[in-house]
Amino acid sequence: MSVFPMLVSVDPATGEPVGEVPRTPVEAIPGLVARARAAQVAWAGLGLEGRVSRLRPVGARLLAEADALGRLITREMGKPLREGIGEAKDCGGGWSAELDEMAHALAPEVLEDAATRTTMFHDPLGVCAAITPWNFPLEMPHWMILPALVAGNAVVFKPSEETPLIGARYAELLNEVLPPDVLIVVQGDEAQGRALVAADVDLIAFTGSRAAGRQILATAAHDLKRVILELGGKDPMIVLDDANVGLAARFAARNSFRNCGQVCVSTERIYVDRKIAEAFLTALAGETAKMTVGHGLLARTFVGPMVAPWQRDHVLAQIDAAVAAGARIVAGGAGHHGNFVVPTVLTDVTHAMDVAREETFGPVAVVIPVDGDDEAVRLANDTPYGLGAVVFGEDEARATAVARRLTAGMIGVNRGVGGAAGSPWVGARHSGYGYHKGVAGHRQFTQVRILSTPARRPPAP
Ligand code: NAD
Repeated sequence: MSVFPMLVSVDPATGEPVGEVPRTPVEAIPGLVARARAAQVAWAGLGLEGRVSRLRPVGARLLAEADALGRLITREMGKPLREGIGEAKDCGGGWSAELDEMAHALAPEVLEDAATRTTMFHDPLGVCAAITPWNFPLEMPHWMILPALVAGNAVVFKPSEETPLIGARYAELLNEVLPPDVLIVVQGDEAQGRALVAADVDLIAFTGSRAAGRQILATAAHDLKRVILELGGKDPMIVLDDANVGLAARFAARNSFRNCGQVCVSTERIYVDRKIAEAFLTALAGETAKMTVGHGLLARTFVGPMVAPWQRDHVLAQIDAAVAAGARIVAGGAGHHGNFVVPTVLTDVTHAMDVAREETFGPVAVVIPVDGDDEAVRLANDTPYGLGAVVFGEDEARATAVARRLTAGMIGVNRGVGGAAGSPWVGARHSGYGYHKGVAGHRQFTQVRILSTPARRPPAP
C-alpha cells in the first residue's frame, strides 16, 4: 500500500513521468460506491433504448481521438504506437455494432405455452466494480464497462496503477454523455482494488492475474457477490508434422512477441513434431531476429519495453532459471537493457521448469519437440491454465480433431484464437470464470427475472 497521495504514470521506455492522478483514499471507496448506487436508479429508468442512444456518440469521440489515445497507451505501458492506435480504433470502430448486439441481447424475451405466457427480463444488477490490467488498458475496461452500462448498472472502475491516465480518459469520454456518478473512477493499486471488492458492489468484473483472482473470489464468497474473472494463460501451440513450417514460425514469432509478450493469449509453449523440429527452430530463430526492439513511438519498433521493472525481473528470472536447469537459447537471450527484454526462444525445456508451466507474460517462447499428436496434446494440457491454444497442420480435419482434445477455452486452427463477430472471449480452468462479449457475455451484467401470466386465450369462435 502506498502512502503517496499521487499516482505517477511512468514511461517504461525512458523512466520519465507521463503524468499523475490523485490516488483515491481507500476509506473513500464505500462512499463512492454509495453514490454510484444512488445514481443507478435514474440511469436504469432511462430504459434500454434510452441508454443505448445516450451512449452511441462516444464511439465517434474515441475514433476522433484514436491517435492521441494510442500515443498515451504507448507512453504509459510501452506497446508500439500502431498497436496502441489499433486498440483505440477497435474500441471506437466497433462501438455502434456492439451497442446493437447488446441491445438485442438484453431485450426482454417472451416464452409461451398452452397455459402460461412468460416474459424474461434482463434487469440491471445495481453497481458493478470493473478492475482492469495494463496490457490492453483501453480495451479491457471497454469490454466490461460498456455492457455493464447498457444493462443499466452504475460502474465503479479501477484502472491498473500502471495505466491510470488512459483509464481516466476513457471514463471522461463516457462521462461526457452519462449522468453524474453513473461511472466513477477509483485510482490506485491493489489496496484500492481490495477495498472496492469488499465494498457494497453487486458484481466484480475482473481481468488480471490468477493470484489476484483468487483473492477476489475469496472476498466475494463472504457476501456471495457475483464475479467475472478473466485471468492469465500459458497458451500452447501445437505444430503437427504436416504443418507449413514457414507459416507456423511466422505466426509463433508474432504471437509470442506482440505487445512484448504481454498478451493473455500469447503463445508461450510450442510443441512441435520432432520430424520437423529442427526446420521449425531455424525458421523461428530467423523470424525472431527480425523483431526490432525499441521505444514504442518509433515506427520501426515491433517489440517495446516491458511495462515495469518488476515484470522485466520476473521474465529474466524465468529465463535464467531455465538456462541454469539445462535449457538452450536458440534466439535472443542477450542484450537486455533497461526495461527492454530481447525476444528469446528456448529449447531443451522440460515441464519441471517454471518457464514451461507458469505464465511468463514476456517475449519468451519455449519449443519442445514431441513424438506425435498424443504427446503434443498431453503436454499442451499439462497446465492449470486454459485460456487459448493453437494448432498448425495442413490437414485441417486432423488439426481440428487435435484441437478438440485441448482443454483451453479458445482454440485457433492455422490462425489465432479470436472468434468471429459475436463470439465470446472465454477462458477455462484457472484462466477464469465467466467470459466477455457475445450475447451470453453481455447477459452476465444482468439479473434474469421472469414474470408469468395466464396464456392469452384464443378468441371465441
Ligand atoms: P494484476 O492481477 O496484478 O492486476 C490487475 C488489476 O487488479 C489492477 O488494477 C490491480 O491494481 C488490481 N488488483 C491487484 N490485486 C488485487 C486484489 N487482491 N484485489 C482487487 N484488485 C486487485 O494483473 P496485471 O499485472 O495488471 O495484468 C496481467 C495479468 O492479466 C496477466 O496474468 C494476464 O494474463 C491477465 N490478463 C488476462 C486477460 C484475459 O482475457 N483472460 C486479458 C488481459 C490480461
